[in-house]
Amino acid sequence: MKLFNSDRCKICRKRKGNRFCIRLEGNICWNDCNILRVDLKCSQNCRYALKKNQRNGKGIFFEFKTNADSQTEFTDLLKKEIDKWITSPQDFWNNKTPAELAETEEGKQQITTFFNSFTIPEYVPMQYLKQRLNLADLIIHSLKKNFETIAAEYLDLIISYEWDKTFELVNIKNKFADQDLWSNYLNRITSDKILKKMKHYDLISSALAESKKTGIVFLEINGRYEISLILELIGTDWFVVGRIYGKPELYNGENEAVKQIALLLSSNKINEVFPLLKKYSAIFPDSADLHYYWGLYYTFANNQQKAEEFFLNAVEIDPDFTEAKYNYAYVLHSQKKYTKAKVLYREILNAEPEEIKSMNNLASIHIDQGDYSAAKKLLDQCLEINSENEIARKNLERLETLNP
Ligand SMILES: [Zn+2]
Repeated sequence: MKLFNSDRCKICRKRKGNRFCIRLEGNICWNDCNILRVDLKCSQNCRYALKKNQRNGKGIFFEFKTNADSQTEFTDLLKKEIDKWITSPQDFWNNKTPAELAETEEGKQQITTFFNSFTIPEYVPMQYLKQRLNLADLIIHSLKKNFETIAAEYLDLIISYEWDKTFELVNIKNKFADQDLWSNYLNRITSDKILKKMKHYDLISSALAESKKTGIVFLEINGRYEISLILELIGTDWFVVGRIYGKPELYNGENEAVKQIALLLSSNKINEVFPLLKKYSAIFPDSADLHYYWGLYYTFANNQQKAEEFFLNAVEIDPDFTEAKYNYAYVLHSQKKYTKAKVLYREILNAEPEEIKSMNNLASIHIDQGDYSAAKKLLDQCLEINSENEIARKNLERLETLNP
């Protein structure tokens, strides 16, 4: 009989135990690994044991090197090293501990002078040391937020139900300049059943792509649901661009899933598409491609309402997704929602001035609305791009009968 969920940490029994501890002969979490290994008693055979760093002779608290599965884990370990250093006698301070030294203003000054004379690597959490010893004059260079910090900020906002405050963390390339897209994002994210009931999360690991412009943070929500957050570096800031429900390895599976669905749709196997779309959307809720294929699926199924919904999702996730935008415009157009359709066709033409389908459709709306000169201009343009274009010719005929 198993008393405990077998994938839990042997020490805390709460977090995922995803590394084998040689000392305890069992799987533990990184948080507890940090508590253990900082005493330097781990077997040197363990890849997470602290090892003497030969190149670094500075002899403070970063004289060891080791492995960590995330920045967060490494920072936590450094804080534990700082804690240990603070209470250890230092021979260059007459065997006083930094904690004892910091009891007087003079002692604090001594520590401050000592640190200010070094160039401390950026990853060392000096802010923590500053707080622990109350060193007002210690110079700290402000740390650039890394992608793990942004992921944590994002989830913290969601835990406190401040969904709208995620704006700054998701407004990549100013994509929410359009209020409709922003509302759609809020609708989508607030209907995520797992995020809605999130009480806490544990960061498990993270990885940075070779380009250093994509980061994945792997977490567990409520000690139960695996999620990987995808972040992208745009300019100097990190943005949250998507969720994957599952392990980070799935990141590369999205393309395969999309290909599979595209193939089934193109061979008209509609019935087979539905269960697959359902399955993959549960894993990749922020895949613009999957939303686009849902849109096509509902177009085939003659459900314009649903098609509109999903094409809008695709455009909201990726405003540069022209094919999705065209289909969204077309669904609106077919339902005579002309104002919005016109804006979208215009946007497509601004991005792709020779996109003939949008040009024709826009002309057709102008005809319906009696704006014949605007229609004529667009249709002439169509025929300039392609004099054989049948639709433009037909539209022109229609225009001439209405406006001889
Ligand atoms: Zn643990």
